[in-house]
Amino acid sequence: MDCIFCKIINQEIPAKIHYQDEHLVIIEDIAPKAPIHRLIVPKRHIATLNDLTPTEHELIGYMYTTAANMAKSLNVADDGYRLITNCNQNGGQTVFHIHMHFMAGRAFHWPPG
Ligand code: 5GP
Ligand code: ZN
Repeated sequence: MDCIFCKIINQEIPAKIHYQDEHLVIIEDIAPKAPIHRLIVPKRHIATLNDLTPTEHELIGYMYTTAANMAKSLNVADDGYRLITNCNQNGGQTVFHIHMHFMAGRAFHWPPG
């Protein structure tokens, strides 16, 4: 499958991996937009949020609790951070394997551009 995140998960192309387990991998974003910019990527290939089914309910919850735990361990939980999942063209999605951006280390604008 021609999916860059599947290739990273299968170790066909390199990435800086911060954490992984049977469900997900956390990688450094190749073009960081914040002092801390990581991607929480499920190991299962799901193209967009539109493709989620009830099978993924637990997985999505796990992504959020993993993000919150990571925030605590990076000492950014109190200052705050931002979690983003883009969907399709208007959302700005460029990699069609769902992922959550974990961004921290500066203040973010609202609404986003
Ligand atoms: P999206 O635009 O789909 O919301 O987010 C895709 C993210 O993946 C972007 O922030 C982009 O910088 C990152 N990205 C794209 N290609 C690679 C890659 O090969 N390796 C890593 N680590 N990140 C990538
Ligand atoms: Zn994939």
